[in-house]
Amino acid sequence: MSDIEKPQVKASFRGTNCLVLKDGKSTILVDPYFTRVDAKTVFLKKIQPNPKRIEKALNDAQVDQADAILITHAHFDHALDLAHVAKATGAVVYGCESVANVCRGGGLPESQICVVDPKKPVEIGDFSVRFIPGIHLAFPFILRLLLRPGRKITAPLRPPARSSAWAEGQVHALHFTHPAGTFFNQGSANWVEGSLKGCEADVAFLGVGGLDLHKADYWDKWYAETAGYVNPKQIYWTHWDDFCLSLDEKWRYLRQVDTVLAHLTHKLKKEGGPPEEKMPWLEWIDVFA
Ligand SMILES: [Zn+2]
Repeated sequence: MSDIEKPQVKASFRGTNCLVLKDGKSTILVDPYFTRVDAKTVFLKKIQPNPKRIEKALNDAQVDQADAILITHAHFDHALDLAHVAKATGAVVYGCESVANVCRGGGLPESQICVVDPKKPVEIGDFSVRFIPGIHLAFPFILRLLLRPGRKITAPLRPPARSSAWAEGQVHALHFTHPAGTFFNQGSANWVEGSLKGCEADVAFLGVGGLDLHKADYWDKWYAETAGYVNPKQIYWTHWDDFCLSLDEKWRYLRQVDTVLAHLTHKLKKEGGPPEEKMPWLEWIDVFA
């Protein structure tokens, strides 16, 4: 097979856990969050999608049409913009029932909403995607009071609303099979022991957001329970940026996530783990290069 014919998947990181995936036939967006509400507004006021920022972000990512939007959980930094993005691109949104209720509140027709079944992979062009149930990063006590983990969105969620209205719903990791190779994405760093057995993938995109709220023993256990089973040849970290800054500002690490990344880099070097790097900011990579 010549290089031109060889199947290829390109990925672009657009902040938080947002990945734009293209293989020349299909376009998929994972967790598109482009509004990026500022830090003051996010906990004190009601929030809503910002159509101008969404339009610009889609433009910058060269997305005018998309086939699918995959949502790992329904928190605002993953799901606030999905109805707007789906309307702008014509994509079908895939996720849990809470995600479906975000779609409905955003006025998306049922024909563009699909509640996933972990037993049935979703087929999008040459991509086959499995939704693997998991759990959200464990929050410290104060955030637990505010966000009440495990909560679902049980009725259409109409913005504007408080950021806490975007309850997490069912958390999923994503396992992709494509003629070019296999890859894995986890948007929130926690684990259900042994649940990723059989989820091997060539490349892993792992969200590290919030790991800085924990200590090194949590990081190591999480790493063993995710990358330990996925066993990737290459790791890209996502969710490392401060998502209260707009995509047009210079990026900053999310709180102290850089200390987590330094720990993981050191650990993987010491243990002979796979090469790792944080997903480059707003750039494109060849996933299986
Ligand atoms: Zn979350």
